[in-house]
Amino acid sequence: MSTLEAKGNWIGGAWRPSSSGEVREVRNPSNVDEVVGVVAWSTPADVAAAVESAEKAFRSWKNMPAPSRARILSKAADILAGRLEEVARLLSREQGKPIGEARGEVQRGVDLLHYYAGEGWRSLGHVIPSAAPGALMFTVREPLGVVGVITPWNFPVAIPLWKSCPALIFGNTVVLKPAADAPLTALAIASVFEEAGMPPGVFNVVTGPGSQLGDALIQHEAVKAVTFTGSNAVGAHIARQAAARGIKYQLEMGGKNAAIVLADADLDHAADVVISGAMRFAGQKCTATSRAIVERGVLDAFTEKVVERARRIAVRPATDEEAYLGPVVNEAQRQKVLEYIELGKAGEGKLAAGGGIPEGDLYARGFFVEPTVFVDVRPDARIAQEEIFGPVLSLIPADSPEQAIEIANGVKYGLSASLFTNDLTRAMQYIRDIEVGMVRVNAETAGVEFQAPFGGYKASSSYSREQGRAAIEFFTQVKTVTIAPAGGC
Ligand code: NAD
Repeated sequence: MSTLEAKGNWIGGAWRPSSSGEVREVRNPSNVDEVVGVVAWSTPADVAAAVESAEKAFRSWKNMPAPSRARILSKAADILAGRLEEVARLLSREQGKPIGEARGEVQRGVDLLHYYAGEGWRSLGHVIPSAAPGALMFTVREPLGVVGVITPWNFPVAIPLWKSCPALIFGNTVVLKPAADAPLTALAIASVFEEAGMPPGVFNVVTGPGSQLGDALIQHEAVKAVTFTGSNAVGAHIARQAAARGIKYQLEMGGKNAAIVLADADLDHAADVVISGAMRFAGQKCTATSRAIVERGVLDAFTEKVVERARRIAVRPATDEEAYLGPVVNEAQRQKVLEYIELGKAGEGKLAAGGGIPEGDLYARGFFVEPTVFVDVRPDARIAQEEIFGPVLSLIPADSPEQAIEIANGVKYGLSASLFTNDLTRAMQYIRDIEVGMVRVNAETAGVEFQAPFGGYKASSSYSREQGRAAIEFFTQVKTVTIAPAGGC
């Protein structure tokens, strides 16, 4: 065990060890010999303590004027901006995101804090004409209470903040349970809120084993809503529990995102964007480009451009300034990715680039995978149907734009898609027919903006939307008020 001091949970405005006293090391996926930090390995009792703190803090937080809550979020934004490099390096070391992208994510966190601080100053609710003489009828939006926030490891600044900021600004209190692969970054966010003067108990973080803590959080009677981002298997489990308790829930889950390349597209632009979408952050984005569906007329030319770019990618430890592609997050994830690569090699496609673990001392102690491209992949192959979450791209030929859309829609997921074309009519048809929540034209499947609604169709989401003003819908409930003059008017 390392000599680093263990970080406690952030509960009720204090740093507290796990009630079991257990701790776990967090290691750097670029070099597993490096211990990045040590965190509390908590128990359901710690979750209960966090929920009770959040419950206790709820009434006064709810009753605080929204502009006062906004000032705390604005202050947190300034503090996080001042600590951008520190938090980005921590993120990059704990979870393997290339440092340039990690900086971008922390900046997104700063912007999210500013954006939702702004919501504290905006109007909520409507005045509605009443049929009763002299009556005033209006709606107010009220918070739900204690909200459980369960997040994945792949965006450990952005996702906790794009859920917690709207929860907080609308007057809810929060218990965040981050993924076991990225707890230190979540604790850094807690320390930002601490420095910003967040009242004790309003924001809490508990680190430890996902299933035990997650269950304890959803089952606690004081928790009134749970917002989750992660895999479909865990999402379905959370939905069942939340429905049984009758609490509000929101699920954002997997993707199998396609880029469609039509014959008239700017192929260099399309190849740059498809490679970026597929390979940046080792394909570990829910919106990563996993399939490129290409009209046959340009298939050879496009394949050549994509393969040439894949071979040039700089695979490096995540904190290396040159890193375009870092490691995947852990050994289990690497094994899963390699198993899919084996399926590809065994006949689901033809290997055109990568296909293994890069060789050399630089890669010996990390979870690296080569940027891998398969061509001639059948649309029903497992590598073309299942979420891989690794730097693996499948090229699928299509005979027509209509068939390309049909192939794109032929998966269970519906998160994000791109179309590359200069033909406006084709673009309009695609916008109408594609079954995804995030529709892009000549742009990457990943890299969506937080001020707009975010979420998927089909198995990618529970039909709710996050971010932007859409967040109001999940994190508030509506009260309709009628005030009639006593004795009429
Ligand atoms: P995961 O489902 O394994 O874990 C997500 C969170 O759930 C973690 O905090 C984990 O500890 C917790 N958890 C695990 N078991 C639980 C249980 N029984 N009850 C409650 N919580 C439990 O997902 P992951 O591996 O961290 O993330 C990768 C997945 O997330 C991919 O499928 C990816 O597509 C998805 N994702 C989706 C979006 C989106 O917005 N749609 C964004 C990022 C990631």
